[in-house]
Amino acid sequence: MFKNHEAKAEHLLQLACYMKARGVRKGMLLYDSKNTNDYIIYTLTLTKKKWLTIKSWCENVVTQMDRKQLPPVAEACHNGNYLFGRCMFKDFCFGKMTPQELERKVYAGFSGVEELWAEHLLGIDDDDPAE
Ligand code: SF4
Repeated sequence: MFKNHEAKAEHLLQLACYMKARGVRKGMLLYDSKNTNDYIIYTLTLTKKKWLTIKSWCENVVTQMDRKQLPPVAEACHNGNYLFGRCMFKDFCFGKMTPQELERKVYAGFSGVEELWAEHLLGIDDDDPAE
């Protein structure tokens, strides 16, 4: 949660994706404030317009992956801040490799989103108890 008491945009996007996957129109986001021990609840109504915006963003991500490109470093990520400190990829994002070297490393052996998707769909058993 930001200091101005608004929900983080990426958290709302994440919630919207879960809502879409479950076919739910209204959702809640619960923040547990470590500073004040308060709970803050945000509600989200998933409209068609919001979903189309999210869908477009997802399609851009898939296109970027198919082109074997990496997204830009997150603006909110800086050496020393919480996001940076918790991320397992920080040595890559802030390391010595050029963006081109990094893309080659990340996408080594990657044959495309469609192939990856099909590969994992084939791995799903209809009778899987985890479903
Ligand atoms: S270090 Fe992690 S959080 Fe920061 S930009 Fe890279 S991937 Fe994103």
